[in-house]
Amino acid sequence: MTPTRLLQPDPDGIADAARLLRAGGLVAMPTETVYGLAADARDDRAVARIFEAKGRPRFNPLIVHLPALDRVAEVARLTPLAERLARAFWPGPLTLVLPLREGGPLSPLVTAGLETVAIRLPAHPVAQAVLQAFGGPLAAPSANPSGRISPVTARHVLDGLSGRIDAVIDGGACVVGLESTILDATGDAPVLLREGGTPAEAIAALGLPLRQRTEAAITAPGQLASHYAPRGRVRLNAAAPETGEIWVGFGPCPGADLSLSDTGDLTEAAARLFHALHEADALAGPDGRIAFAPVPETGLGRAINDRLRRAAAPR
Ligand code: AMP
Ligand code: MG
Repeated sequence: MTPTRLLQPDPDGIADAARLLRAGGLVAMPTETVYGLAADARDDRAVARIFEAKGRPRFNPLIVHLPALDRVAEVARLTPLAERLARAFWPGPLTLVLPLREGGPLSPLVTAGLETVAIRLPAHPVAQAVLQAFGGPLAAPSANPSGRISPVTARHVLDGLSGRIDAVIDGGACVVGLESTILDATGDAPVLLREGGTPAEAIAALGLPLRQRTEAAITAPGQLASHYAPRGRVRLNAAAPETGEIWVGFGPCPGADLSLSDTGDLTEAAARLFHALHEADALAGPDGRIAFAPVPETGLGRAINDRLRRAAAPR
């Protein structure tokens, strides 16, 4: 249990928030849409803690918040379409899905292992101040327990997450009170992925043909059963490896090739998950076999097992 500090939206409060974030902490901050639960988007462990605090049952991709348009190139490729949308609507309640920058600094947990990343520049002065003071990308989903209503006051945040996060900055009530609109801006025309605080009419008024998402896109990439699978065959709940298998341990697993966490720590395992999938894939090769030691179905273990089941799903 972490005692959750209530910070004021003044220079001291912002400096404390930035310090906590740099130390890998979780800070809820007001944005114009809803309160966001922010963590350093480059820090695997900090991002894992977001999922832990929210009790999310799966690793869905998170929105990355940046302080300015000229910072986008550090994490993503700004397509001509995205640049046009950004100039019209940023800062503001519009999220753009862009091609991920290869070799960029983001934790793979932020993108759930996808090759795209969702980015937003919030307009709220407190969120802007935190981003400026922190100086890097912040992953920030809504600051509520999974499945509960999005928080639009600091009180709502505390009601849901007190004791589970390091701090909340009290910036009063959020003015939009709705999540951001999400557009896929990887191609030539925007595709509406989620309705939100930027109306579709305003986007259409730019003269861009706004496409509704198709059947194929309705199943978000992260929800496909076999999404993000290593090339080889994957076996779960393996108490020991069979001959020829790469064995990925959890907790004490003598002789394991890799480990999600030697000490059986679920937060560490979540932080390592996508790295371990990559490493196991490289070790096993295209026709190899990978076995994962059992991971308990509690807390973050549920999201870890959800992802492992997708990796093991028949293709
Ligand atoms: P939340 O963080 O709770 O506001 O939710 C973020 C939303 O953005 C979810 O609906 C995600 O599915 C969506 N999202 C984030 N990243 C991506 C991405 N790379 N591609 C498609 N959708 C995304
Ligand atoms: Mg939410």
